[in-house]
Amino acid sequence: MLPAGLGAPVALGPEALPDDAVICSCHNVTKGEVTPLSSLPEVKKCTRAGTGCGSCVKTLEKLLPKTGDGGLCDCFAHTRQELYEIALALRVGSYRRLLDEHGRPQARGGEGCEICKPAVASILASLGHGHILDGEQAALQDTNDHFLANIQRNGSYSIVPRIPGGEITPDKLIVIGEVARDYGLYTKITGGQRIDLFGARVDQLPVIWARLVAAGFESGHAYGKSLRTVKSCVGQTWCRYGVQDSVKMAIELELRYRGLRSPHKLKSAVSGCARECAEAQSKDFGVIATANGWNLYVGGNGGATPRHADLLAQDLTDNELVRLIDRFLMFYIRTADRLERTSVWLERIEGGLKHVKDVVVNDSLGICDELEALMATHVSAYRDEWAETVEDPERLARFVSFVNAPGTPDPTVRFVPERGQIKPELPVLALEVAAR
Ligand code: SF4
Repeated sequence: MLPAGLGAPVALGPEALPDDAVICSCHNVTKGEVTPLSSLPEVKKCTRAGTGCGSCVKTLEKLLPKTGDGGLCDCFAHTRQELYEIALALRVGSYRRLLDEHGRPQARGGEGCEICKPAVASILASLGHGHILDGEQAALQDTNDHFLANIQRNGSYSIVPRIPGGEITPDKLIVIGEVARDYGLYTKITGGQRIDLFGARVDQLPVIWARLVAAGFESGHAYGKSLRTVKSCVGQTWCRYGVQDSVKMAIELELRYRGLRSPHKLKSAVSGCARECAEAQSKDFGVIATANGWNLYVGGNGGATPRHADLLAQDLTDNELVRLIDRFLMFYIRTADRLERTSVWLERIEGGLKHVKDVVVNDSLGICDELEALMATHVSAYRDEWAETVEDPERLARFVSFVNAPGTPDPTVRFVPERGQIKPELPVLALEVAAR
């Protein structure tokens, strides 16, 4: 839909929107309020745009004047892609070394910033430099990665065990129910076919995870920019229409790519036939069964800017499918910008889908062996972050509400009942009162 008054054809972007177009719907901020300002921090401070769900931040950045030289941030003149190549080629395994040897002259010896620290942490994790809470890596992580859990609005955390392919035994379901009951957690089934447990205090995370790990669960990485889930329909095993075993394939893919750190989160799904019950075409990489094998789709996305995935290859065998996904994911991780989903990357990268197809299917750059080797290294080096954490007193020491009173729970994390479970007790905001 073109804004009123504009003729076609027009390259539609935020620049083409009228001044009264709402950019931040959380705080009802229009384009006209944003464009006189000069930086994102200024926009956030003056209008509160970008401080709600955050989905408008990319649009805000497009509306603001372009500054700088295209570098990642004030600390690095290199892009994320260049930093990845430096870390890979020169075997740089620490943020300190990357900053001191390849940062801007004025940033060397400094502490870095909130843009480059998580971006470099992600690069180092993608290249397999150990547990993310060890050594200097711990200080680079965002809040969620810092505690291997997702912080919620009252300061409590949520816990998401991995349930590969959405398949779970009754015994494991019972364990989740018992843990939730014993710690009074709110339980909800997620869109990714797993179970989210909400309402844990930070000091409860290790004991809860110790029980889950003992029952055979592992981190679902819901807190990380990494693979989330590979959804599946029941496929040929149960469904009369199925032509392949979609559950088996989804489990194989989820176990292969679990823990893979990437520029943004990765979602996937496998459908057992063209009816597409698992919605594979809305995923970063989606698989649909055919009578002859599998079709692979890439670059799909739900969220604020939905995008149907593009077909990358057809009628693949199991091995061909896995090999192509290995290459696709590693090429994306290598070349995407920070916080860039596959959908945006596919549209931004020069040559688009055709180029990506040439690289990962036809090996036009001659890098496929390297991409496959990088993935093989990831697969063989994978360890469950929570299993390793609950065994290590040093890593566990961070899970306290107050560093100077480690045994004291945070008294401000409180709950009230709702529909037979708990919900956060929040202060009633003046705004909410006004809205009633
Ligand atoms: S996608 Fe096909 S195989 Fe899977 S549940 Fe739906 S109809 Fe059945």
